[in-house]
Amino acid sequence: VARNPGEREFHQAAREVLESLGPVVRKHPEYADAEVIRRLCEPERQIIFRVPWQDDAGRVQLNRGFRVEFNSALGPYKGGLRFHPSVYLGIVKFLGFEQIFKNALTGLPIGGAKGGADFDPKGRSDAEVMRFCQSFMTELYRHIGEYTDVPAGDIGVGGREIGYLFGQYKRITNRYESGVLTGKGLTWGGSQVRPEATGYGTVFFADEILRTAGDSFDGKRVVISGSGNVALHAIEKIHQLGGRVIACSDSDGAVVDEAGLDLELLKEIKNGHRGRVSDYAAARDGARHLAGGTVWSVPCDIALPCATQNELDEDDAKALIRNGCRIVAEGANMPTTPAAIRLLVDAGVRFAPGKAANAGGVATSALEMQQNASRDSWSFDYTEQRLGEIMRSIHDRCLETADEYGTPGDYVAGANIAGFTQVADAVLALGVI
Ligand code: NDP
Repeated sequence: VARNPGEREFHQAAREVLESLGPVVRKHPEYADAEVIRRLCEPERQIIFRVPWQDDAGRVQLNRGFRVEFNSALGPYKGGLRFHPSVYLGIVKFLGFEQIFKNALTGLPIGGAKGGADFDPKGRSDAEVMRFCQSFMTELYRHIGEYTDVPAGDIGVGGREIGYLFGQYKRITNRYESGVLTGKGLTWGGSQVRPEATGYGTVFFADEILRTAGDSFDGKRVVISGSGNVALHAIEKIHQLGGRVIACSDSDGAVVDEAGLDLELLKEIKNGHRGRVSDYAAARDGARHLAGGTVWSVPCDIALPCATQNELDEDDAKALIRNGCRIVAEGANMPTTPAAIRLLVDAGVRFAPGKAANAGGVATSALEMQQNASRDSWSFDYTEQRLGEIMRSIHDRCLETADEYGTPGDYVAGANIAGFTQVADAVLALGVI
């Protein structure tokens, strides 16, 4: 904490992983001897840069850009870019730290990183977003590449932004280096299932939890926070599996639709006009808007936090438990506070942490890199099948590792230990570098 003052979210993410590692260090003293934990907590490289750009009125605007290249023991740095006014070093470091272990869990050869800027794309025109992305890439390009660091999207960075970023990279370097960014459009090097992957993957993970209890999504009531990329695709997959999503949200409030959300209408409002969930409530009979509210007070069997960090606190956990929720699987990164996790787990709710449950996005990004490297493109069905296999394998590894280290059924310990040991072994093998 003294070494990284003020980086609250990073401290929280690091503490959460370190708390699981006691039994690991007892079994493998070589990790402690070689200072592996301290080395993993220190990013290999942190880049902070100025991003000047001009708005539509010709005024000069200034933002701060970040890329934290945390660990590359397993492969090139990999992790998304977040454009949101709340972005500062503590957020980027928490996300980059989580990414190391998440990427290890996928079993694919990728290191961990994260980046972004305190730029708010909301209310900005396409031309403004393009100029911002071009300026951001004018600095970032010198730090990234197919073999060094491969950014992708996150909050505020979707297909539109990846397009502008890739265009500027191509222009500056004079290279069509498809593998430098993932989340690209299908006609210019993107992969099938990448937009769907995080949401679908989270649902596949929750489905595995249900399956181990001899159950399924059929007829289940589900609430999901957020209404962005992850949330919308989670809703889609749950409806395909026979579940009913009855609430979702944005930062202005939640919408409850007991008949089950009409995904086509929601997509049209969110993607078509960049609208709000309040617009959905206004357009749909029987739906109600909870201005300033959240989805956690709505009775459900399963809850998927898919919006942002620390959005589900103790009071929310109590409401979920009181209303009979049995499973919480994190589609977002660190959305559940540590105190809320303790309450949920103590109450017997099956809790799947983001670094396992939302790893489908980065896993499919690694599949996009594979397709780019072989100048190939796979079908939707084949790519989705690969995603499903990866999520099942992460689920099973978490449970097997939790068993091995004496905490059966504990997905948090299982994910932290399995991710950590895989990276730690590589760090040891590569020597003191
Ligand atoms: P988007 O920008 O597409 O969507 C974010 C959604 O969350 C928006 O609906 C936003 O609403 C909402 N939101 C933000 N803050 C709050 C809040 N305080 N309360 C309620 N809703 C809020 O981002 P993604 O869907 O891509 O990412 C969501 C989460 O998933 C993040 O934690 C991200 O790190 C994580 N993730 C994403 C991956 C991906 O592949 N995209 C991969 C792995 C994890 P509003 O419009 O009002 O801001």
